[in-house]
Amino acid sequence: MQDYARKLRRGGKQVGFVPTMGALHPGHLELVRISRKQNPFTLASIYVNPLQFGPKEDFKQYPRQLAADLRLLAREKVRAVFTPSDKEMYPEGFSSRLQVTGPLVAGLCAPFRPGHFNGVATVVVKLLGATLPTRLYLGQKDAQQVAVLRQVVKDMNLEVQVVACPIVREWDGLAMSSRNARLSPKGRRIAPILYQGLLAGKIAVKRSESKSSKVLGAIRRVIAGEKKVQLQYLEAVDPVTLAPARLIRPGTMLALAAHLEKVRLIDNIIV
Ligand code: AMP
Repeated sequence: MQDYARKLRRGGKQVGFVPTMGALHPGHLELVRISRKQNPFTLASIYVNPLQFGPKEDFKQYPRQLAADLRLLAREKVRAVFTPSDKEMYPEGFSSRLQVTGPLVAGLCAPFRPGHFNGVATVVVKLLGATLPTRLYLGQKDAQQVAVLRQVVKDMNLEVQVVACPIVREWDGLAMSSRNARLSPKGRRIAPILYQGLLAGKIAVKRSESKSSKVLGAIRRVIAGEKKVQLQYLEAVDPVTLAPARLIRPGTMLALAAHLEKVRLIDNIIV
């Protein structure tokens, strides 16, 4: 991959890069499509990165379907797909890690997933080194990841433009995720309650409620209707700094994580 990427770079080609953990769905493919519109060359990667999973998380159960994924990416005319092995990514003697600190990892997912964003930052910097892209395509579904990686790119003087792409949803509003496949049919029917909650928050804002506590309360009430859903966090934050917002302004992000049937789901909405 590195040789091909270098050739493109030396030839002055614009390259879009879409990093993924595979088990691809239309949310991932939308990133590819956006990249293809903006760059003559689009590269992708499929790698389930052990560094970003905690010891009690679902690294082992994470869905893997490489052959099907490669077919999907070929259909979307991705030029090359980087599918490194763990040995290739972290060979014996690998000794460096990025550490993300400060307000971007003070709230939302970070306190519940210690080390997660360090793992994400480390793998993405490594993948950027291998693919040398002009633009990096990320989904707004993982909003904290976008904010963190923007900061990493800035802090490390990386020459890549971060492009955040809108959340792609199922017909019933559930944010697409590789983890949705792990829900039972019943869980799958329940899961859209998260988005319905966020929409209730948006409606409360439209009706001129500006106190975050009230808006978050409206969301909580909707989600509490489904006993099988355990909310892990629900926050109103600035989408760039991720600082908690006591008052909702245009552009404030409402973000949540919840467990349903042991599957961890995240979602967010901008109001
Ligand atoms: P993952 O394979 O979960 O690591 O995701 C790879 C990329 O796809 C990340 O930038 C995600 O934010 C993005 N992504 C995942 N699901 C969605 C979705 N439903 N809509 C938009 N982007 C998504």
